[in-house]
Amino acid sequence: MRDDTKAVHAGRHPERFEGAVNPPVFHASTILAESLAAWERKRLDRAADAPGTYYGRLGTPTTRALEEALTALEGGHRTVLTPSGLAACGVALLAFVEQGAHVLISDSVYGPTRHFATRFLKRFGVETTFYDPLVGAGVDALLRPSTRVVFLESPGSLTFEIQDVPAICEVARRRGITTMMDNTWATPLYFKPLAHGVDVSIQAATKYVVGHSDAMLGAITATREAWPPLRSTYHELGQCAGPDDVYLGQRGLRTLPVRLKRHWETGVRLAEWVARQPEVERVLHPALPADPGHALWKRDFTGASGLFGVQLKPVGEPAFAAFVDGLELFGLGASWGGYESLIMPTHPEELRTATKWQYRGPCFRIHAGLEDPDDLLADLAAGFARLRENP
Ligand SMILES: *Cc1c(COP(=O)(O)O)cnc(C)c1O
Repeated sequence: MRDDTKAVHAGRHPERFEGAVNPPVFHASTILAESLAAWERKRLDRAADAPGTYYGRLGTPTTRALEEALTALEGGHRTVLTPSGLAACGVALLAFVEQGAHVLISDSVYGPTRHFATRFLKRFGVETTFYDPLVGAGVDALLRPSTRVVFLESPGSLTFEIQDVPAICEVARRRGITTMMDNTWATPLYFKPLAHGVDVSIQAATKYVVGHSDAMLGAITATREAWPPLRSTYHELGQCAGPDDVYLGQRGLRTLPVRLKRHWETGVRLAEWVARQPEVERVLHPALPADPGHALWKRDFTGASGLFGVQLKPVGEPAFAAFVDGLELFGLGASWGGYESLIMPTHPEELRTATKWQYRGPCFRIHAGLEDPDDLLADLAAGFARLRENP
C-alpha cells in the first residue's frame, strides 16, 4: 500500500464498530473484566505488551486507530500518543537518559524543546550540548562516552536548515547512541525518519495531523529496538492523550495527503514571490532551488509542507508593523498546520547558542493555508506596498 492509501485505511476497523467508518470516541477510565479468568488473561496480555484495552490511560480503540495508522505511515514498530507535541519531545528524551547522561540537540530545535533540556533535564543531572544543524558526520567529534541521545529536527521550524540525517544517524548508531527526530514539518508523508536511520520519530500532531487548529496532540513512533524503553517511560509518566483530541487526530490524518499537497504548492508559490521582493534578504524554504538545504531536501524528502521563513533587510519598526497589522488573510499566531494561513515574527538570534544567526532585519514565518493562493498573494502584495510606503 502506498502512503495515500495507508492514510485512508490504516487503523480503521469498521467491522468492530457496527460498520461505522470512524472509530467511536471511547470515554473510559475503568475497563471491566467479565470474570476472574478474563481479568488474569488481561493482566498477562498487558505484561506481554499485547495491544488491547486495559485502562483508559493505556489507550482505547480510539487511541489504537491513530497509533496503528501512524505506525504504518512511519514504518515503525509501535506508536504512543501524548497530550501535546512538546510532551512527545519530553517523553522521548526522558526514555533514553539517566543521571549523568549527555544529550546532543540541534541548535535549530523548537524553542520549548531546548528549554526542556536546559531547564528541566539539567535539574536531574543531564547535560545538553547544542550542535550546528549543518554538522553532518562531524557530529562524531561532539559525542562523549556519556552521550545517550542525538535529537534532530530537520528542517528547524524557524530557520529551516536541512540536516544530513543519514550521516548523523550512522555515526550515532556505530556508537550505540539513540537518535530521535522531531519530524513535524514534513510529517511521515514527506520524510521517513526511521528509513533514514532515526530510532524514534516525533510528531507534533497538533499541527498537520489534526490539521484544523482545534486540538493538542503528540505522537512518538519507535523502531522495535527503541520500543521497550519508550513504552516503559511513557507508562511511568502517564502522559496519555484525551479521547476527543485523539479522535480529531485520526480524523485529520485521513485527509492529510490532499491537504499537505496543497500546503506545499501554495507555500512554494508564496515563497517564490516573496523571494523576488527587493526588501527581502532571503527566503528560508528548502524546496526553493536557491536554498542551501535544497540538495539534501531533494535527496531525502518527497515533498514540502506550507511553512517557511522570511528574512527581511533592516527596516523600521513602523513599516514592519504596517506590513503585519494590515494583512487580512494571514492570522498572527504561533501554531501552524491548520487550514488557515498564518504569519508570525520570529527571533532565531535569541535561541541560538552553538551558532550565530547573523541577520539584523526582522524575520518572520509564514504558514500557507488552504485559501486560494491568488488571494494570499494579493494580501502579501498589499503588505509589501505598506512596507514601502512607511518610513
Ligand atoms: C508546535 C511544535 C511542537 C510542540 O507541539 P505542541 O503540540 O504545541 O506542544 C514541537 N515541535 C515542533 C517543531 C513544533 O512546531
